[in-house]
Amino acid sequence: MTLTPVMQQYMRIKSEHKNEVLFFRLGDFYEMFMEDAVEVSRLLNLTLTHKGTAPMCGIPYHASKVYISRLLRLGKKIVICEQVGDPKAKGLTERKVVETITPGTAVESEYLEGNSNNYLAALCVFRGKTGFAFIDVTTSSFCATSWNASDMTEQFPKELGRCSPKEMLLPQSLKNNGTVQSALEEYPGMSVSYYPDWDFNAELGYKKLCAQFKTASLQPFGLTETSCEVPAAGFLLDYLEKTTNSPVPHVSGIKTYHDSQYLIIDDSSRRNLEIVENLRDSSNQFTLLECVNYAETAMGNRMIRQWLLYPLTDKGKIEARQNHVSLFVDNRTLMEHVRKNLASVLDVERLAGRIAMDRAHAKDLQALRSSLVAWLTVREELSEYDFAEIDAQKAVEIIDLIQNAIMDEPSTALTEGGIIRTGWSEELDHWRDVHDNFDKILSEYEAEERERTGISTLRIKYTNAFGYFIEVSKGKLSSVPENFIMRRALVNGDRYTTARLQELEHELNEAGTRILELERDLFLEVRTKLHDYVPYLMQTAAEIACTDAACSFAQAACIHGWVRPVITEDRRFYVTAARHPVVENHLPKGEFVPNDLCISADDDEKPSFGLITGPNMAGKSTYLRQNALISLLAQIGSFVPAKTAEIGIADRIFCRVGASDNLARGESTFLVEMTETANILRSATDRSLVIMDEVGRGTSTEDGLSIAWAVSEYLLNTVRCRTLFATHYHELTRIEHPNMELLCMDVAEQGGKITFLRKIKTGASENSYGIHVARLAGIPQAVIDRANVILEHIQSVAENKPVLDSVPEYEEKTVLQNQTVPSPCAPGLFSDEEIILDEILSADTDNMTPISALQLVARWKKALSGR
Ligand code: ADP
Repeated sequence: MTLTPVMQQYMRIKSEHKNEVLFFRLGDFYEMFMEDAVEVSRLLNLTLTHKGTAPMCGIPYHASKVYISRLLRLGKKIVICEQVGDPKAKGLTERKVVETITPGTAVESEYLEGNSNNYLAALCVFRGKTGFAFIDVTTSSFCATSWNASDMTEQFPKELGRCSPKEMLLPQSLKNNGTVQSALEEYPGMSVSYYPDWDFNAELGYKKLCAQFKTASLQPFGLTETSCEVPAAGFLLDYLEKTTNSPVPHVSGIKTYHDSQYLIIDDSSRRNLEIVENLRDSSNQFTLLECVNYAETAMGNRMIRQWLLYPLTDKGKIEARQNHVSLFVDNRTLMEHVRKNLASVLDVERLAGRIAMDRAHAKDLQALRSSLVAWLTVREELSEYDFAEIDAQKAVEIIDLIQNAIMDEPSTALTEGGIIRTGWSEELDHWRDVHDNFDKILSEYEAEERERTGISTLRIKYTNAFGYFIEVSKGKLSSVPENFIMRRALVNGDRYTTARLQELEHELNEAGTRILELERDLFLEVRTKLHDYVPYLMQTAAEIACTDAACSFAQAACIHGWVRPVITEDRRFYVTAARHPVVENHLPKGEFVPNDLCISADDDEKPSFGLITGPNMAGKSTYLRQNALISLLAQIGSFVPAKTAEIGIADRIFCRVGASDNLARGESTFLVEMTETANILRSATDRSLVIMDEVGRGTSTEDGLSIAWAVSEYLLNTVRCRTLFATHYHELTRIEHPNMELLCMDVAEQGGKITFLRKIKTGASENSYGIHVARLAGIPQAVIDRANVILEHIQSVAENKPVLDSVPEYEEKTVLQNQTVPSPCAPGLFSDEEIILDEILSADTDNMTPISALQLVARWKKALSGR
């Protein structure tokens, strides 16, 4: 079948962009064909039509941004192909790819979320180590870190989860790496691309980074030629420049960081604690972020998110943040003023990025000006305190420049005029005068000629055929001066022109075009002048963000009645009347029951380990999490929901709660639980805070109890960290250890009616009240009655068999830090066959649709054949 010339053109261009969706301009539409059309019509719910036999779908070009942003969110890359030739000319219109937009390189505000960074990330393995780098080109934030290749299982999901990039670039060789792949599977909306390994080149990367940062070496950034971060970071820059088709001069450095600089929270703990995303729908509803975020600016929003994901471990730095928060808490009028002014500050950081990349339009500049004006007012208010450290002079210069050059309500288009303010350029003012006041100019000239010639009837007129001319009536022809050039003799009088009149007419014809050209050139001149201020603007943006974040924490503290925690370098955790920030927020005022906790891993006769028993629904999980969240809040410099708090800085927080299934990865609930527990036992130190909920639940009672017992002993004797351990195994209360305290949730029982008091108290819980909860949940009475009979029987049997009275003594053996850990599905722990067998046995075939049955079989087949 022969293709039409347009389709041939399409096929040629598409062949160069196989991995992107090609938006092909046809008249007023962007059309997509073949696989692109089929996929995009499905993703965006567009009507699929046909051109000849080729599937096709299209979108109006003027509405394209909406569709592009939806596709970007789905992880797609888009290539825009425009008509560059004259569409009215004969033959095939010339078309060219003019822009590539990818999720991680997009810079238009329509494609970005104001409250989070838009990261592009790269990962590579170099000399046995893994380098991970990520950049947000819109804000110039560029970071890198590294880890031993053998730590990929913990490190990659943790780093990926923290920066949650929109786009990820990887070397081809990692395509078959199971650990990398299963981490990536958690982010289905992320765009992932593979490039040849040699693109991640250390030597070229090093040169590229030095050239970008204008430094002779990368020493100022803590990197050498052999650092594994270099190939990843270098490739990122290269990809960015090629994709955006513009340099990124505002990217002036890279921040390298290592685990010890921040409080480490592994991937599953971060998820479990619902810090910035909830477990239900990944939104920020019911998260810690929601409780502390009262930021007025997009920069403040991003900063708070960043602080939550990278909590500090340095006492001085934490206290510096706390001091700022305290200042606002103690002076609420000041806080209100500052917040009011911050509300008028737009995204200075991204505006600066747009200026640097020559993408800013005139409205952006006005937005920058008004934001800086508002910021200077804030600075003025805060002048007595140590908030703003950089000089305000440059902000004033920027404000003056924009104020003098740019109109108040300028056009966003570059070529339509309406940008430059009167008085900025004499030349522009002249042309505008010609354009706007031509009648006045003409009548002045007319009066001038009348006076010079003495011809009182002399008139300047205009016809379409002639243009402008001077008309002299018959009776006055003798007074016509020599410089009048005859154009035409008529019955009543003659028509003339003069050099001056011709010049005026020429100027009038020119004025329109000259104005547009000049406005454009003058605007570009102003924007280029602002390039020099970009580093200053980035610093200013950081100051605005920190001020906004501190104000936001103060606002949270005032609204929720939080207190400033005392930060110490010891290993205590003392809180009184503490609350769960999120649960309290969503309960009617006063309903949340506050609780204390006093644990310490120092030798100060306080317990380090709290073993919490109590019925389901009593509030155990809430209590566990609230203490982890308080520790985290304290380490980001925030106040905490408690009456008093003394928090010893933790190096890591582990939060193993609930049993999260990951059958999609072929991992059983119990396997996930054990993998996470293994990680805690291997990585926790005496400075860590460990929160464990119901360990061992996913297996048989004997197994589960034995594991929970052994894990508790290991944490108590060997790791010696602050631990809260909730369990339904009452037998664990028989562990005797000086550092262990038995805690339980108080329950009032009266006349067979149970009330959960949500109050923690010392001692072990006597009853699990599981059957009571089952009744609350609506289990039929007949089943409840039968359960009570069975329970009584089991209890009487157990009383006669005190199996746990003679557990052999604990013998200390350390888990080696570098002990190789089998990957989740590796032989030795569970084989694929075992996992699949387990799935077959637990499959609910009665309620399964044929299609899900087929999908299951296909997955098993894949798992077994890929071995
Ligand atoms: P458990 O882990 O013991 O099963 P949860 O922590 O899940 O119990 O809490 C059960 C319910 O009790 C939740 O709905 C929670 O909102 C509420 N709750 C928990 N702790 C408190 C508290 N201290 N004050 C008020 N309500 C609470």
